[in-house]
Amino acid sequence: MSHQQNATHTKWYAKIQPLTLFAIEFKNEMNKRIKGFKKPIYVTRPLLPPLEKFIPYLREIWGSKRLTNIGKQHQLLEAKLINFLKVPNLTLFNNGTTALLAAIRSLNLSGKVITTPFTFPATPHALVWNKIEPIFCDIDEETLNIDPSKIEKLITPDTTGILAVHVFGIPCDIESLQTIADRYNLKIIFDAAHAFGTEVNNIGIGNFGDITMFSFHATKLFHTAEGGALTYKDKKLKPKLKMLRNFGLKNEFEVELPGLNGKMNEIQAALGLAVFKYWKDEYKKRKRIKLIYEENLKDIEGITFIQDKKSTKSSLQYFVIKINRSKFGRSRDYVLEKLKEYNVFPRKYFYPLCSNYQCYKSIKSANVQNLPVANKVVNEVLALPFYGDLKDNEVEKICNIIKSFKS
Ligand SMILES: *Cc1c(COP(=O)(O)O)cnc(C)c1O
Repeated sequence: MSHQQNATHTKWYAKIQPLTLFAIEFKNEMNKRIKGFKKPIYVTRPLLPPLEKFIPYLREIWGSKRLTNIGKQHQLLEAKLINFLKVPNLTLFNNGTTALLAAIRSLNLSGKVITTPFTFPATPHALVWNKIEPIFCDIDEETLNIDPSKIEKLITPDTTGILAVHVFGIPCDIESLQTIADRYNLKIIFDAAHAFGTEVNNIGIGNFGDITMFSFHATKLFHTAEGGALTYKDKKLKPKLKMLRNFGLKNEFEVELPGLNGKMNEIQAALGLAVFKYWKDEYKKRKRIKLIYEENLKDIEGITFIQDKKSTKSSLQYFVIKINRSKFGRSRDYVLEKLKEYNVFPRKYFYPLCSNYQCYKSIKSANVQNLPVANKVVNEVLALPFYGDLKDNEVEKICNIIKSFKS
């Protein structure tokens, strides 16, 4: 290096150093100034109607002495959801997992079914309980959903279906999946546990594929404490699903199938009716919170959002960011651990990948080399606190805390 160059180098540093120091100073100052939350802030909180609004339902159920077996509350909820989800057929279940078990059985799936490793354990487990081998397929880096371009090479003569998940309520590439399914004569089941209220071009998300499953677990935006539903186009599935839900009983004396007990009871259904009245309000609040998050985090290098397309109405189930370690300067795990010091408890949905579970990692398709995108993304995603009761300034504060970690 020449003497000349060296001199300019020194000059350049001389100029920038005070600024850099100032920036560091400023950030330290900011860190010191942000105090943690007094009460813990969790990723979500169940939407609960005021108790006095639920009591009249209980009174009615007590009066009827009918606690389960498809009573009045069940029928009212079913009708309400058919209307809201804009679907032709819907069958309620006592949770999303039993609904999924029945869906797989009703379509006579067997052998192998292609699915995503980036989901909740219930998705692959439902296949295994039906004696089906889950074949893990890699995901799309943008949507985090199953990548249709990687499905075809996984299809073998014993593949009978695709079980895809609308992760975080973002719709899968439904068209491409259907094209593949038609070409190879496969059934499609969608796990829409996160997608209650999602619409694509004004079409309810429950209208695609052969069957769609919804979960109404307490952590989901619309819930019945525990609960679920299946929606489907083919109304011929209805009697079979009802039998599978009720011990396989065809009538009082005939048992046609080895069915489950998957019935939603009257108290669950009534809770759903009560919660439904507050769903819209919660949805509006979450919409606002999402905007505040986006406004405050959008210009931070290394942080990106999982975005809905313009044609999609979002379910607002989760607010999820991806943290790129090299660009943000800190890993997702660092951010998660540090946030805990401020009494903020986001979640690593979904960590670990299903393909890395003890019970699935020996399956050939679970090999890390086959799933590069999923194995990368699983270390980047973070679901931030997201529920209607969060105040604007609390959301802003969470963003400021995250910003203060950047290095
Ligand atoms: C919640 C969830 C389920 C399971 O639903 P349950 O109603 O809790 O049985 C299945 N799949 C996904 C992706 C979920 O998030």
